[in-house]
Amino acid sequence: MTSHDRAIRLLVVGAVNVDLVVETDRLPGPGETVVGPTVTRHGGGKGANAAVAAARAGAEVRYCGAVGSDDTGAQALAELRDSGVDVTDVAVLDGVATGMALIVVDPQGENQIAVGAGANAALDAESVHAAVERAAGWAGCVLVSTEIPAAAVAAAVTTAAARGIRCVVNPAPVLPSTVDLLTSGPVFTPNASELRDLHRLIIDDRDAPDVPAAERATAVASRTGAPVLVTLGAQGVLIADPVSEVVALPAGQVARVVDTTGAGDTFNGVFAAALAGGSTVVDAARRGVAAASLSVASVGARTGMPSGEEIRGAL
Ligand code: ADP
Repeated sequence: MTSHDRAIRLLVVGAVNVDLVVETDRLPGPGETVVGPTVTRHGGGKGANAAVAAARAGAEVRYCGAVGSDDTGAQALAELRDSGVDVTDVAVLDGVATGMALIVVDPQGENQIAVGAGANAALDAESVHAAVERAAGWAGCVLVSTEIPAAAVAAAVTTAAARGIRCVVNPAPVLPSTVDLLTSGPVFTPNASELRDLHRLIIDDRDAPDVPAAERATAVASRTGAPVLVTLGAQGVLIADPVSEVVALPAGQVARVVDTTGAGDTFNGVFAAALAGGSTVVDAARRGVAAASLSVASVGARTGMPSGEEIRGAL
């Protein structure tokens, strides 16, 4: 992004979690306790992570989500504020815990994760509708990630469509109700397995497990009338558009991949911010890929998220 970075305005709607990570010699079996030497705490949640990625890349970012009125929630909000994210649209709810992910990692990097959705599951559609209304005339794009109630996702997508604000949906996870959103024409950004789920909502493909990703993405794009961007880890991103050829963008070269947690969130935040700033879909995706590939060189979802300058350097 360039010197007019401050004019790039993005609203992100989605989950915020606190991640507690324990490294152990092996993953526990049912009923078993394993002990690791330390526990580390990281800010997480796909929505909040994407908001941080966009802010670090130079955008003005508002985040809409929900936390509990507990110390954990206060800490999660403080981390977002410190990253330059506006949290005015966050609901602080009594009687419910802030979302938390309990993560165990073994020496091979294999993990086991349990998420307590907490306040994320209580984010109501009215609050989301109000946040998108407030962003009308301000935001160039609304990014929605779907670890929140289906009604909250629908409120974000339909209000953005009614207000003519461009909308990007990171369908992680794909909800059965996602099919109702197709006609609102959001840009979808699934990873490979989410693309399979999304495609299956539209076409019964259980007899055809080997359909290539490009074909599935094109089928989804022809239903939404909007581009579909498929993130493929070390293979980069595929862009299917209803009116043009599929474009493949390779991932950036990474000397040593340390931790891919949050790579998709980094892609989504930086991609949506660039769209908000008026970039074409392909140029915005290039920025997203460059940022995501830089982010995998550090531990933790947010630690390796690059600045706008670092992204420019990688393009
Ligand atoms: P998700 O975290 O949603 O599953 P992906 O794993 O597909 O998302 O990663 C998103 C993006 O992060 C990729 O498109 C790529 O740009 C970057 N990325 C992920 N893993 C690697 C890797 N091993 N090497 C380089 N870039 C990577």
